[in-house]
Amino acid sequence: MPPESLTCKECHTVYPLDASYVCERCFGPLEVTYASRADVEAAELRRRIQAGPHSIWRYRDFLPLTSPPPRDTLPAGWTPLLRADRLAERLGLREVWIKNDAANPTHSFKDRVVAVALARAKELGYHTIACASTGNLANAVAAHAAAAGLDSYVFIPSDLEEQKILATGVYGTTIVAVRGNYDDVNRLCTEVSGEREWAFVNINFRPYYAEGSKTIAYEIAEQLGWQVPDRIVGPIASGSQFTKIARGFEEWIEVGLLAGAVPTMNGAQAEGCSPVATAFAAGQDVCRPVKPDTIAKSLAIGNPADGPYALDLARRTGGGIDAVTDEEIKAGIRLLAETTGIFTETAGGVTTAVLAKLAERGDIDPGERVVAIITGEGLKTLDAVRGTFETVEIEPSYDAFEASVEARPAPAQPVAA
Ligand SMILES: *Cc1c(COP(=O)(O)O)cnc(C)c1O
Ligand SMILES: [Zn+2]
Repeated sequence: MPPESLTCKECHTVYPLDASYVCERCFGPLEVTYASRADVEAAELRRRIQAGPHSIWRYRDFLPLTSPPPRDTLPAGWTPLLRADRLAERLGLREVWIKNDAANPTHSFKDRVVAVALARAKELGYHTIACASTGNLANAVAAHAAAAGLDSYVFIPSDLEEQKILATGVYGTTIVAVRGNYDDVNRLCTEVSGEREWAFVNINFRPYYAEGSKTIAYEIAEQLGWQVPDRIVGPIASGSQFTKIARGFEEWIEVGLLAGAVPTMNGAQAEGCSPVATAFAAGQDVCRPVKPDTIAKSLAIGNPADGPYALDLARRTGGGIDAVTDEEIKAGIRLLAETTGIFTETAGGVTTAVLAKLAERGDIDPGERVVAIITGEGLKTLDAVRGTFETVEIEPSYDAFEASVEARPAPAQPVAA
């Protein structure tokens, strides 16, 4: 099912499949559209998927490449979907699953979108890839460029977590640290992309990049035995991933790979950067840009490109968009770690905290099957857990050990099943 064209999301003007991203008529965003799959049997599609590799490329019939995927790529995707019974119990829910996208090559879901954008950039003959990043995208671009033997430039806000900068520079990329926030970085990169023959994965290659997030939905459906979950809770920065997960389910329902409806979609933001949650609460269709101030730096986009589409999606699926404080984010990180053994970064803390808030508020029917999208790794944002627990330091003697253990408060008791 080859990709057919780029189409304006607003006025539906059709463009060729090149490195463009904005409609010349109405300035709407462009999206990849595909040739009809109506004449292919669902059983045949399913057979092709199941015969594919354990990576996003098993879904190549739904991805925007015109030739086979390149060989020298890091294998993104096919991350675990884990049933989180202890987390569910703590929240008073019956069935909660964690899609753990920290288990990607550079430990965030960005490997999916970069793998797709880079493959398309190679098809179009680009030699240099670049990005405007809130952190994880820089990690992924640097690593995937190294694997493919391409040059790369990554633009980041200069106040990023040191762990993310170190985990990027190691790949031999050029890091440009911009004194400003992500929205300043993005504006600069838009200007640079007009001057250089570079593939900016999330600017002039954004239509291809965005398609990579659909693979999260495909994997969840396949891992649940070709079923749609009732509800998805996932983070929103630009809103690209959030909207494309729903698109993934929608496409598979259309071709008959899945039965049912798109899940109820709940978006998660940090209060310190919550333009979409604010617009949702106010009943508005567009987001008013904000100046980010939150520990969830990977979600710190003050002017989200896909905000209006995220709002529409949450409303038409009966979901919502909520925001949580930095303290709630830290508690979310701890809750997930303590109940599932998964240590996530601040963005995952946002998602877990919003899941907890929905459960507390009674918004989730206890019988629902809920999937939380955990998008990144805790080791990249270690500062967020500093001071949230104590260590016991003692002299190396048994007496000292016993005295210290006696003196400690009893650990929290697990909830009875
Ligand atoms: C980039 C990112 C997101 C969200 O990205 P969108 O711009 O909304 O697609 C979520 N979590 C993490 C860890 C990220 O790095
Ligand atoms: Zn248009």
